Amino acid sequence: MVVERGEIGAAGSGANAGSLHAQLQHAPFVERGVSWARAYAPATRFLLESIRLWRGLSDELGTDLEVSLTGGILVADDDDQMHAIEQKVAIEHEQGIDSSLLSATDLRELAPYLAPGMVGGEFCANEGKANPLLATAGLAKAAMANGARILTRTDLRALDGTDGGFTALTSAGEIRCKKLISCGGTEASVVLALANARCAPVGGEPIQASVTEAVAPLIGHLIYYAGQPLTLKQARAGSILIGGGWPASVRAGHPQVSGDSLLGNLAVAQRVVPEIANARLIRTWAAYVNATSTWLPLIGELPGAPGLFIGSFPYMGFTAGPLLGRVLAQLVRGQVPETDLSAFTP
Ligand SMILES: Cc1cc2nc3c(=O)[nH]c(=O)nc-3n(C[C@H](O)[C@H](O)[C@H](O)COP(=O)(O)OP(=O)(O)OC[C@H]3O[C@@H](n4cnc5c(N)ncnc54)[C@H](O)[C@@H]3O)c2cc1C
Repeated sequence: MVVERGEIGAAGSGANAGSLHAQLQHAPFVERGVSWARAYAPATRFLLESIRLWRGLSDELGTDLEVSLTGGILVADDDDQMHAIEQKVAIEHEQGIDSSLLSATDLRELAPYLAPGMVGGEFCANEGKANPLLATAGLAKAAMANGARILTRTDLRALDGTDGGFTALTSAGEIRCKKLISCGGTEASVVLALANARCAPVGGEPIQASVTEAVAPLIGHLIYYAGQPLTLKQARAGSILIGGGWPASVRAGHPQVSGDSLLGNLAVAQRVVPEIANARLIRTWAAYVNATSTWLPLIGELPGAPGLFIGSFPYMGFTAGPLLGRVLAQLVRGQVPETDLSAFTP
């Protein structure tokens, strides 16, 4: 049984930009360095394995999730950025990521829609996109068809450990269960605290993303820029999604679109793909993204709290979702997942 305060996809899983990420993210790599990148290796393997599941997910669910894996391109417009990309690609090869360096000529051939003046970049063949609005709803529908019950508009308010299980007090009444997974996104550790259990904190960072009207096919890859935060991709319907984690503002606890971030994000997008200037913007939205201080996910049973589990994959939880769901299902059934979760213990 799933207890959900809002509707399906009310938070991150409905608000995200649909990128399927595999490469080491450039900004934390530059900020945190090689030791962080090496420590991130188990999370990289998790993302790669999850993307393999994404490939077959539309067939498995019987719903076209608009999954497309044509690769991601990180572009650089100066030599310092290029140097960092070279270091990053070397580490990615240690981690099984299918990435390669691109010269300026390679970029022009592979992605002629990119601005002239880019000095080179990286191609990551594992990456792509899916449609989050279809994916979360498609998974929920298939789960219900297979016996899951999903209580929407239901708030989990308290948890009592009872003999050999839990009593969950919700706005729809009491639910007894033997095992319980906290998959509350940015509130995953708040849910655990209801059961007096503690783990490394999961936080929430307010960020925003934008979408344009549908335009003729232009952008064939997932695009990133090494100079400033940016993700760009074109949905099957033709609209272009513009993101990259630009900060939103917060009013009374709720994320709100920041005008400064919007202008900054659009300026970077136009700098990287000039033709985007011809597309009209139709919507910008803000939401919290789940975050951990190390960027590593928290997955597993809580020490000292048998039957209580957490599953939270920060920043890239859309990509990680299919595998996270699978390993959590295996854990609650007492199975040992094939995926090595030892780096993610809560
Ligand atoms: C703007 C934006 C863009 C992003 N872009 C990408 C991207 O392109 N690619 C990518 O891989 N990731 C992306 N992400 C990250 C990704 O969306 C999240 O990591 C992922 O959706 C987290 O999924 P989740 O199921 O753990 O949490 P969520 O989807 O946040 O779900 C948690 C749910 O728990 C419910 N809940 C919490 N507490 C309670 C309670 N007490 N009672 C009842 N219900 C409760 C909430 O209502 C919520 O619906 C993005 C995030 C944002 C915000």
